[in-house]
Amino acid sequence: MPLALVLIGPPGAGKSTLTAALLERFRLVRVATGERLRAEIAAGTALGRAAARHVERGELVADGLIDRLLRTSLDAIPADTGVLLDGYPRNAHQADVLDVVLRDTGRSLTAALALDLPDAEVVRRLGRRRECRGAGAPWVLHLDDAAAVARCRAAGGTLARRDDDRPAVIRQRLAVYRAETEPLLARYRAAGLLRVVDATGSPTDVAAHAIDVLAAGQ
Ligand code: ADP
Repeated sequence: MPLALVLIGPPGAGKSTLTAALLERFRLVRVATGERLRAEIAAGTALGRAAARHVERGELVADGLIDRLLRTSLDAIPADTGVLLDGYPRNAHQADVLDVVLRDTGRSLTAALALDLPDAEVVRRLGRRRECRGAGAPWVLHLDDAAAVARCRAAGGTLARRDDDRPAVIRQRLAVYRAETEPLLARYRAAGLLRVVDATGSPTDVAAHAIDVLAAGQ
């Protein structure tokens, strides 16, 4: 059966950076709900218009909308290809829906990878996080990473701050994470699916650790 992984962690924990490393190592397609929502918002679709207010405030988008987004995304992935879910599930309802949608598409969850990062570090990282825009698809970088900043500028990109990376919104996203998403870890621990990864190290360290943890469970 193909891999089905969920990636759980506070905002700024490095989910998209880790995703890039996992995609190189395993045969997976990534489904990132936050990124999909930002694309819908930018395109001004009905879904985007309904979601925008919540994303701007750091709240969860209504389950009904996001569940449909998940189902359409998974339906589009060939049955023999693994999936990596980045940003879904974020509450107990979504975890229930995920089980059903995975079953309907002939899969079952292989592991839930949880990135562990203290609040102070979340706030610090998100405060210095930027997107490189205008040079191909937007990609995430950190102002402390001089090489990435130089690469973006050399490609003609500009550094932009995501609207929801403002301090007040960061605190709200973190509060939502601790209240609604973190409790999912107990559920996945009980199911024997939880793999915790320390997210305080460098991107390379975190990726190496995550790959070890996943390979050990295979
Ligand atoms: P982060 O994990 O850094 O907060 P994301 O890009 O994953 O960033 O999500 C950005 C925003 O998109 C969230 O704050 C939320 O408003 C919305 N969102 C993303 N995924 C979901 C989801 N599964 N359920 C509800 N809202 C979501």
